[in-house]
Amino acid sequence: MNVEDFRKYGKEVIDYICQYSTNIEERDVAPTLDPGYLKKLLPADAPQSPESFKDVLEDFEQKIMPGVVHWNHPKFFAYFPSGNSFPSVLGDMLSSAIGSIGFSWASCPAAAELETIVMNWYAKALGLPKAFISDAPGSTGGGALQGSASECVLVSLITARARAINELKGQTTVHDSVFLPNLIAYASREAHSCVEKATKMALVKLRIIDADVHGRMRVDLLKQAIQNDVNAGLTPFFVVATVGTTGGCAFDDITEIGKVCRQVSSIWLHVDGAYAGNSFILPEMRVFSAGLEYADSFNTNPNKLLLTNFDASALWVRDVMNLKSALNVNPLYLRHEHMSGVDYRHYGIPLSRRFRALKLWFVFRIYGVKGLQEYIRNHMALAKKFEMLVRKDDRFEVRNDVHLGLVCFRMRTGDEPNHTLLAMINHSGKMHMTPAKFNGRYVIRFCVTYEHACEKDILDAWSQIKCFAEEILRDNQLEISSAPASPEAERTSSEPAAPVAGKPPIKKKLTRTKSLRFSFTRSISREQYQNQSEHLGDGATPILVVDPKTLQQNFQKAAEENERLNNIKNGNTANSNTKLKDISDVDTDEASN
Ligand code: PLP
Repeated sequence: MNVEDFRKYGKEVIDYICQYSTNIEERDVAPTLDPGYLKKLLPADAPQSPESFKDVLEDFEQKIMPGVVHWNHPKFFAYFPSGNSFPSVLGDMLSSAIGSIGFSWASCPAAAELETIVMNWYAKALGLPKAFISDAPGSTGGGALQGSASECVLVSLITARARAINELKGQTTVHDSVFLPNLIAYASREAHSCVEKATKMALVKLRIIDADVHGRMRVDLLKQAIQNDVNAGLTPFFVVATVGTTGGCAFDDITEIGKVCRQVSSIWLHVDGAYAGNSFILPEMRVFSAGLEYADSFNTNPNKLLLTNFDASALWVRDVMNLKSALNVNPLYLRHEHMSGVDYRHYGIPLSRRFRALKLWFVFRIYGVKGLQEYIRNHMALAKKFEMLVRKDDRFEVRNDVHLGLVCFRMRTGDEPNHTLLAMINHSGKMHMTPAKFNGRYVIRFCVTYEHACEKDILDAWSQIKCFAEEILRDNQLEISSAPASPEAERTSSEPAAPVAGKPPIKKKLTRTKSLRFSFTRSISREQYQNQSEHLGDGATPILVVDPKTLQQNFQKAAEENERLNNIKNGNTANSNTKLKDISDVDTDEASN
């Protein structure tokens, strides 16, 4: 493609994007397709000969677009926002066009220096403590852009692990891995599953701390757990507090957590603010950032709530030397003569880095801090509006404290009708939402995400939700029980609402449930949801937590089940006390079978 072709097709693509954005509401927010849909439409091999741009763009509209979930649709209320905006896209286009790989100052001085400047702008706009701002007097801290919040958590954990191991090791020359079994990390049950993933990758233990009825980490339990672990000879080294949990947008009390962490020198406190950290751009939200001065690191994703397109996740640390010494490798081919210039390759996992600062710079300049504040305030007001509508209807309840853009609601019935409600919402193609388990209850997450969201979107969504709910209640002769007791009292009960006296009992199977059985959430299956009790509560990716009691019980259960199955297989003739054979007793034929 020559430059004239690029000019021509580039304009066509921009026209396409403008058309897409203007008419997005004419499209269903999410498709109803089965996996493998695209394989049927595209050839199995790449073309041998060049094809025309026109054909490619046509296929994009006809074959690719039908499989797209429109995250920037006014009726997309799922997950958290996928931040995006025209200024950000334009900034990113330039980054793509330049194609520089800014791993060191020498490899692209502008990328390195703009990243430092933008990270300081961002930190100041959020009102972060001076310790995180690299140009603040006396600061040893600073920040860098990463690809995702999960990466920020992993990088922080690896840095904390290196610091703790160095402390344990002292002057000895034993290998670092010797200390791994000693190390233990902590996060609330409501923390994002990326925390667990990070501990898995780093081969360290994770202790899950229960949350209170508001979804905040129980600091008394954290303190107790740390004390017990210290008494047991373990080394607490990493605590993750979350500001804006995924399930219910709860804000952990960083000050109280920080005070506990300060008592143990090996602990690194990381604060995960992937979504809600951006809201600290509003002075009125800084009540939730109080205590950040205790944190060793903090992350927030401008690609969630700061109108910056994926990928962009900001990580600040109090002392960049910790980061650099944990991640530093220095082969000859990467060295250069300007060692006073910052080399961001030491601040994260990849060597090659996109020029991400460019899009964030465009966003800050084109919106200004005031424009970004207005955008977030609009989301907050609309979420409050939705909350008010739900609360006014006594067939429904709101389960979380609504501080930002997320409302967790449900019908005042058992879980099953709420599964059906979510399935109907998503199958309509007209709205998209996701479930979570918040404070022990199944909830539907309604998150305001669209840049230009307005009251009409909220009112339309609410009236459709009510129609679906009415259909479910009518079809199943369900009536709403009286207002529930406190959320605390309800935690253990997720039984369906009792049938009303004088009415026929509820049909065992809800009529709609059957047909929607395998797609009730589009993000987790019913089986996964039901198995969630021992998992982190982020509602999206249930993964087993490292809880010795549960592991022991599961092991016991598995052993009993194996024995039972063996007994059945062997016609009950097997000795129920069968023990695993000693390796030396296994004859080679048996072993090779
Ligand atoms: N932390 C929190 C609180 C989140 O809500 C999420 C995602 O929603 C993550 C971490 C993971 O974010 P990422 O997809 O950027 O890794």
